[in-house]
Amino acid sequence: MSHPASSPFPPATFPPGTRSGPAASSPATATSPPDAAPSRPAGAPAGSSATPSPGDSATPSRGSSTDWVARAADDALAEHRRRGGDGLLVCASGISPSGPIHLGNLRELLTPHLVAAELAARGVPVEHVLFLDDHDRLRRVPAGVPAHFAAHLGRPLAEVPDPSGELDSWAERFTAPLHAALAALGIRVRVVSQSARYAAGHYTGAVLAAMARRQRIAAILAAARGTDARGAGDAASGEPAESWPYRVYCRRCGADDTRITGYREDSTALRYECARCGADGFRLAEANHGKLAWKVDWPMRWAAEPVAFEAAGADHAAPSSSFGVGRRICAEVFGARPPSLLGYGFVGTRGAAKLSSSTGTAPTPADALAILEPAMLRWLYARRRPQQAITIDFGTEVTRLYDEWDRLAARVAAGTAGAADATAYRRASAPGLAGPRRAVPWRLLTSVLDVTAGDPRSTERILGQAEGARLRLADVEPRRTLAATWLARHVPPERRTRVRAEPDTALLATLTDRQREGLTLLTAELPGCRDLAALTALVYGIPKRLNGLAADAAADEAVRAAQRSYFTLLYRLLVGADAGPRLPTLLLALGPDRARRLLTP
Ligand SMILES: [Zn+2]
Repeated sequence: MSHPASSPFPPATFPPGTRSGPAASSPATATSPPDAAPSRPAGAPAGSSATPSPGDSATPSRGSSTDWVARAADDALAEHRRRGGDGLLVCASGISPSGPIHLGNLRELLTPHLVAAELAARGVPVEHVLFLDDHDRLRRVPAGVPAHFAAHLGRPLAEVPDPSGELDSWAERFTAPLHAALAALGIRVRVVSQSARYAAGHYTGAVLAAMARRQRIAAILAAARGTDARGAGDAASGEPAESWPYRVYCRRCGADDTRITGYREDSTALRYECARCGADGFRLAEANHGKLAWKVDWPMRWAAEPVAFEAAGADHAAPSSSFGVGRRICAEVFGARPPSLLGYGFVGTRGAAKLSSSTGTAPTPADALAILEPAMLRWLYARRRPQQAITIDFGTEVTRLYDEWDRLAARVAAGTAGAADATAYRRASAPGLAGPRRAVPWRLLTSVLDVTAGDPRSTERILGQAEGARLRLADVEPRRTLAATWLARHVPPERRTRVRAEPDTALLATLTDRQREGLTLLTAELPGCRDLAALTALVYGIPKRLNGLAADAAADEAVRAAQRSYFTLLYRLLVGADAGPRLPTLLLALGPDRARRLLTP
């Protein structure tokens, strides 16, 4: 858990340009240079002095800022070299597909992904392995799954049927959406099914070692609990209750409501009793019908695979937790070194109450990818140190987030981004991520979609006028689709813009002469305003002209007050509310004819 400020190895060990070495054939994704960023504004220069690409011979390969990813990569590399530095450096993630995989689990994947990408960029042969814990038992039936699935409790996830009946297993049902999200996010992993590993006998030697050293394991576990290993024993067998590190999945019913009743080390003959099926047995060296307990299974995997870097939830990563126990078991039982471990904090969400209430679960990566560009979702994780909590907002903050992201992209493209910001941007970007060729501001896009009710031709025309350039909707994808989804799923109806179908005749009948004059000036001059700049000058200028000032005169407090009341009047007449999207955008979206109909007394 220590992160030295600088690598113990001089940069010369991994000179620039080594990317064409072993890393080129590595399955892990290399960190992309900034010119591969998907959201670079059209016409912006590629490349940037502030964000050297890994292959840039003038700069160190690790980039311009030593962030948490670079420090974690240093630690992983140090661990790899302590083991001799041979072969692929394995960065591991572990996911239990027991139910929907939520945005908190994504940190389990993105943390090693970013570290693996950093190592690949340094020319280190590296692989990101996703250990799929599909040999875990089904612990509970999540919301939305028929209650009769309770009959499968205690069976391995890979052997429980898919609740929807479409896929081969429960594990596949909840893994499939994760694979889709990983592909969208540019996270390439080698998936290792624990069920397949156990079935293939890959862990047999380790299971036998754990059984042989079960007293040692029991002592380590007891020490972690602060009790004596023999304190809570099973009087009948004379064995401590927790001395069996292995839990049997019954050969007949498949469930783990079992108890080991005897084990012979010489023959590896194991006897057990199932609560449903009675007594049975098998030879551990010849077949596997069970799984090591979690606190033994995790370190066994470090040793058997072997893993040099792993991330884990902060609760597992603390010294007194699974990791503290695991590192002792790894060394004392399996004779191996534990990985360099990085603990990560909580991922919370806001503004997603509607999602959660419909599915009964926390929002998933797919939910976030329905409204955020993939690089932005990566950025939310990359820019925070793992120890920091992350909150992903599905509500009004989304607009601010897009603004922030677009400004960052522009600064990176212009070479004016700070080192830390540029590094986070580089890590968020990856080759092949979906992003718009033209990053139309989210604020404009959502306003236009709202006012046009999503009509493609009007949307294309208005966006072109607003941007002062010919554009095709395809250039704005996937942002247009994301914006439409966000409006439909996350913006409450009362916050959406509803253009009046008919003029507000009651309000129009009460106008003062000056208010009428303000509307007349506007409707007369609207047809001559072809873009946002002209419309902005017009709507801000009219209140000044009504006060006898020039349209471009500086605004004092009286003018600002006149502008506020003028804008409120326009909003009431156009959308029946005191506020709405920016007026120039709204007027552009409406077009002069529709505006005149609503603004003429
Ligand atoms: Zn049974």
